Amino acid sequence: MARNLSRSALAVLFIPSLLLTACGEEDLARSHGVDPEMDRVPEEAPLREGYVWNVEREKYLPVTYAEVDGLAIHEGDMVLGTVKQMEARVREVKALGLEASGPRAQGLVKTDPNSRWPTPVVPYTIDSGVANQNRIQDAINHWHGRTHIRFVLRTASNAAQYPDYLRVQSGSGCSASYGRQGGEQGMWLDGSCSTGTIIHEFAHVLGLDHEHNRQDRDTYVIIRWENMVAGASAHFQQNNNEDDDAFGYDYGSIMHYGPMQGSRNGRPTIEARGGQSIGQRDALSTFDAITVTRLFTRTFTLRAPSGHYVVAEGGGGGTVNANRVAVGPWERLQLVDLDGGALMTGDLVQLQTINGNYVQAANGGGSGVNANPLVPGEWETFRIWKMGGPTGEPTITANDIVVVGTFSVGYPKYWEAVGGGGAGVLAHTDVGSLGPSNMFTVGYP
Ligand SMILES: [Zn+2]
Repeated sequence: MARNLSRSALAVLFIPSLLLTACGEEDLARSHGVDPEMDRVPEEAPLREGYVWNVEREKYLPVTYAEVDGLAIHEGDMVLGTVKQMEARVREVKALGLEASGPRAQGLVKTDPNSRWPTPVVPYTIDSGVANQNRIQDAINHWHGRTHIRFVLRTASNAAQYPDYLRVQSGSGCSASYGRQGGEQGMWLDGSCSTGTIIHEFAHVLGLDHEHNRQDRDTYVIIRWENMVAGASAHFQQNNNEDDDAFGYDYGSIMHYGPMQGSRNGRPTIEARGGQSIGQRDALSTFDAITVTRLFTRTFTLRAPSGHYVVAEGGGGGTVNANRVAVGPWERLQLVDLDGGALMTGDLVQLQTINGNYVQAANGGGSGVNANPLVPGEWETFRIWKMGGPTGEPTITANDIVVVGTFSVGYPKYWEAVGGGGAGVLAHTDVGSLGPSNMFTVGYP
């Protein structure tokens, strides 16, 4: 992909002119102008209270948004929907008593506009007038190279198949709708949006929030409220309600603001406590990619014939064995189905540990199985085949018997639980030698 100046680099380039001129209103506006991810929301935009659906907690949780052009915008560049939709939801939540403190609002996940995309396929269109369309394509190519997310151009011939889609259109600054909203939803870009910022906006569409607003951020960064332009503080509110933090704090996340974002005086608004570099807009970090992948996984277990569960020792970062008698966090693998949809016999899969590591056939097969890599490749990709189970359907459901084969080199090598279980796992059996110790039972705990 094309490398671009990061937002923080642009901000640094701008500082000298600030130092040379009086710090009047125009300069403040210009300093705000180096943050296209904030430009959508004018300082005077009214702040209002609404609700967003939290998938993990299955509850509506309160959220503050700015009203701009009839849209409800959160943290500068995340469009939650229209103000009308937000007002209707507030009425519904209050009428039905669905607030976080009320009864659990079960069964609304599929119908709520702030939901996840059901599969890692996001259809999109691009209006003809949008500037720098090559940057949009570069951003999409970056996503395709780093994750199993697929952005698919929506056309007249496939429109019926894709009722929910993203429409990339012209607008001031760079902003995008947050999560799947149902029907048409927008991303708004002007000529100032770099490839990296567009990668960032696509992450919002998929459901990622800003890294620096995590619940645990004060352990890692210092927020300098006194250096912010008016209105910027709304972009630094912690998301104690609407999001759940995934993995450790990631200074290198493309979802982290840079030190000068929203600065009114050339001094930082956000500082890493250990002096780490923040605010890069070059590429998805390893954990950005893992976190997005996690949005599309389901929890998965494999059990050897002896009844022992497959375990990633230490939760990942070590060997894989088949010697546990109960299911805990280390035995719960996250299944990435590269073919999307339900797990079917013959699907290509990757298995992610609780720590984010991917299960790997060492050297692509022929020896042991470990869970070390943080980035999946061919050695971390397996094909799974159903060998038997309660039904003859091609869908792999709980208690089905499967074999797991390598994908990368020559003929597949199939996983074997050494001794039928109670010991290690090897990826070394040829198809002609499959026996009972190669058979694993699937679970979806
Ligand atoms: Zn953003």
